[in-house]
Amino acid sequence: MNSHLRKLYSELSFLYRDIRSTCAECKDHDCEGYVWLLKDEASSLYDLNVPIVEINDSTFFIHSFEDIDGSLSINKPKPPCKLRCDGFCSIYDSRPLVCRMYPVGLVTVDSEVLIVLHKDCKFSRDINGEAKEVFITQVVEILKRASPNLLMEIMISYREVDAISAFPEGPNTFEVIIPLRSLINERR
Ligand code: SF4
Repeated sequence: MNSHLRKLYSELSFLYRDIRSTCAECKDHDCEGYVWLLKDEASSLYDLNVPIVEINDSTFFIHSFEDIDGSLSINKPKPPCKLRCDGFCSIYDSRPLVCRMYPVGLVTVDSEVLIVLHKDCKFSRDINGEAKEVFITQVVEILKRASPNLLMEIMISYREVDAISAFPEGPNTFEVIIPLRSLINERR
């Protein structure tokens, strides 16, 4: 795995170092949906024998798809991640970026990939005022320090995921933090 991605993992771990107490109190469903991967992450997880679904040689997901008569089904809008066991992530130290970032995530609006704060999370619902401002500033600063090539790879991978995904309808509320492209452009 490349050093830029490892550095981003490490900065996110530090940012979220105190989030576990909030997660412990949370009653929301956890670890649901199709977990997408960067190519580097997919190859690292292959090495750990994690089942991966690869589409068009460019889009990778943790295999949480339903198997119906030998075919993968995407009919279930938010399947539980099969790597969650007894309330814990079975690959916690190797979990992918999308899991490490949550409740910060990516959303496409009018073809623009946006960094957002998902609101279907106790941590983001509870945080407010100055603490929230500080948290969002830290998220942006971490991403500004990330390699522009890595940010570009994240944007391209997410666009490919988004192009083939039918995200569930219904409440999926988020607050926009910043367009991802603006973080890339200001570094090039
Ligand atoms: S990989 Fe781990 S953290 Fe990510 S959704 Fe699956 S169980 Fe949860």
